[in-house]
Amino acid sequence: MNKPEHIIASVNGQFLPLSEATVHIEDRGFQFADGVYEVIACFAGNFLDIDEHLDRLSRSCQAIELSMPLSRSALKKRIRETYQRNPFEHAMLYIQVTRGAAPRSHQISKDLSPTLIITARQLPNPSQEKISMGATAITLQDFRWKRCDIKSISLLASVMGKQEAARQHVDETFWLDDEGHVLEGCSTNCFAVINGKLVTHPLDHHVLEGITRKLVLRIASEHDQTIEERPWKLSEPDISEIFMTSTTNAAMPVCRVDNQPVGDGVPGPATMRLRQWLLEHFEALRS
Ligand code: PMP
Repeated sequence: MNKPEHIIASVNGQFLPLSEATVHIEDRGFQFADGVYEVIACFAGNFLDIDEHLDRLSRSCQAIELSMPLSRSALKKRIRETYQRNPFEHAMLYIQVTRGAAPRSHQISKDLSPTLIITARQLPNPSQEKISMGATAITLQDFRWKRCDIKSISLLASVMGKQEAARQHVDETFWLDDEGHVLEGCSTNCFAVINGKLVTHPLDHHVLEGITRKLVLRIASEHDQTIEERPWKLSEPDISEIFMTSTTNAAMPVCRVDNQPVGDGVPGPATMRLRQWLLEHFEALRS
């Protein structure tokens, strides 16, 4: 089912088999990473927080002075149609907008039309083993750019971070700022449970405003969990749990960081409760 020949992509409104879905070699996305993207989960035809994702896409576009390629309703229709043309009941929709094709020049010409591509894949499910054992991470000094709030397709630093994680046989790299605060992962936001409080780095230019981060904060506060959005360090003595969040991971316990156990070294109760609440929320979308 997940074979490329079964996947239909949307390229500027045309639906094509993946092997025939191409863009111009002078597309500014290809030449300059001049574009932004979103990843949205769909459970049995119900999109998770689609308006939140499209709001963030719109903010990313605005930040780079790129017009949204379609109206909100037309974009939703195209995303839905891409979902419907593919064989996945639970899917991950990838939406990318670039500034369009033009002879290569840093200067942006005025008459560009943006390139909009949408693809669908099976929604990946973290393995039960990973959830019960917990994920692992390393840390690296943040060497990304200073606008991590923009969901840019320029992901070279994240690719390098993930590559280093793979080399060290762990799942994620957490970026640290110059003072050693944990910012976020290469493709995840990062939370700690410190003295029973849920702690995560505040929203600024150093982190992406994860849609799952926001959902976790909402669900946690609905359950009267104390939340602190503040910079935090791995050296804080009362950290009992760490977890990371993303559209494809929900809330994933992280039990070892830089080869040291976190708390008891097993997934903690606060993380697993939150994970359960998230899964119940997803389950409601499925049915
Ligand atoms: N931070 C970064 C750097 C990411 O790439 C992602 C995933 N796109 C996230 C956080 C998590 O965001 P979301 O919950 O919206 O998937």
